[in-house]
Amino acid sequence: MFGKVLVANRGEIAVRVMAACEELGIETVAVYSDADRNSGHVDYADEAYNVGPAPASDSYLDQEEIVDVAQRAGADAIHPGYGFLAENAEFAARVEAADDLTWVGPPSDAMETLGEKTKARTVMQEADVPVVPGTTDPVDDPAEVRELGEEYGYPIAIKAEGGGGGRGMKIVRSESEVDDALESAQREGEAYFDNDSVYVEKYLEAPKHIEVQVLADEHGNVRHLGERDCSLQRRHQKVIEEAPSPALDAELREEIGEAARQGVSEAGYTNAGTVEFLVEDGEFYFMEVNTRIQVEHTVTEEVTGIDIVRWQLRVAAGEELDFAQEDVSIDGHSVEYRINAENPADDFAPTPGPLNTYRPPASIGVRLDHAVGQGDDIGGDYDSMIAKLIVDGEDREHCLERSKRALEHFQVEGVHTTIPFHRLMLDDETFVSGEHTTKYLDQDLDEAD
Ligand code: ADP
Repeated sequence: MFGKVLVANRGEIAVRVMAACEELGIETVAVYSDADRNSGHVDYADEAYNVGPAPASDSYLDQEEIVDVAQRAGADAIHPGYGFLAENAEFAARVEAADDLTWVGPPSDAMETLGEKTKARTVMQEADVPVVPGTTDPVDDPAEVRELGEEYGYPIAIKAEGGGGGRGMKIVRSESEVDDALESAQREGEAYFDNDSVYVEKYLEAPKHIEVQVLADEHGNVRHLGERDCSLQRRHQKVIEEAPSPALDAELREEIGEAARQGVSEAGYTNAGTVEFLVEDGEFYFMEVNTRIQVEHTVTEEVTGIDIVRWQLRVAAGEELDFAQEDVSIDGHSVEYRINAENPADDFAPTPGPLNTYRPPASIGVRLDHAVGQGDDIGGDYDSMIAKLIVDGEDREHCLERSKRALEHFQVEGVHTTIPFHRLMLDDETFVSGEHTTKYLDQDLDEAD
């Protein structure tokens, strides 16, 4: 096992990774920007190094500086967390190339293949995994897009190759919208992902977002840990996630889990990853692979009892997965609520500020992943997450009852939070029934306003 790991991230995920390291007897190295001098992850680490000014591009994204710090500190591996450099194949390759360092993540070439959506779609098709109807080659001619619109029927989505979180995705409802949409998808792809290449997909009207957690070692073992349902989304961003999905029956669950397993095997994948699908009318379609630990990995850990981050470290150190697929069982229900410093009454605008009061809930069924305490400032430099509240129950109904109690006892003053929004959802018939699709919040709630 590694002796010392550098965690190239901040906030709750940095602490989550360091906690796993600590349990494995690994020393931890934090990096921080000028804005994060007093942050929780810096306190938690055994050692911490400043890597530059507040803008992420000058600190958390400074590849050379981070590798340099890792070597100076005598770390033998780098864990990227999520966001920042986590899905950057170039960075992964750079870490792989350093003799004294190991990348805690999939091989950089698998990241590169799966990071480009058209390549990932090709790999999945080779593994006989159904993909959303669409192209496996980039498209840049409006006439071709119109032909595809005819073929699949509108609406279609024009999506940036490197896109994610709904960025670089444009929905086209009729032929006349093609030119503008194509141009703006290309523009967003270039601006956010440094890649202006786009492709076309059928746009499903009311799907469920179902994703499968996988773990793969370097000895050819690939396991899936069941699915998460991330259908509650605002503008294509996940708001509440849960496991298992209230919308899958045993047969579909088994099929989708196996499809995910085959897909990542085909890609020569190792470490943790997530295979995302859209599910509509009992059919599932591959959407993309996230080649990193995800924000919502927690709910899978809660229902399987498997520590995914611990396995990321063990697998990266060359260990073999010591459980068979049949050993993975789903027990109870778990829901994750993203507690963000945002004002739900003002279109979820970020509201940075001081945590004058911060008293999270406690007691049975509550897990809190955070890196803040009362008196801390939620800055405006990075994302607006304060904490992830994860609630478990014997079944979904029990879990939602507990969630009400936990959210009611979550006291935050000084900044607006998404807590009132989550509480509203727990009284929302559609969410409570589990029938919500990815379009639910944007269509139905906005129209009701
Ligand atoms: P990511 O999963 O990385 O956020 P995307 O930007 O591809 O990546 O997708 C974000 C969300 O957009 C999905 O969870 C889903 O709600 C929606 N979406 C993406 N592609 C489609 C599609 N073809 N049809 C319907 N909804 C889609």
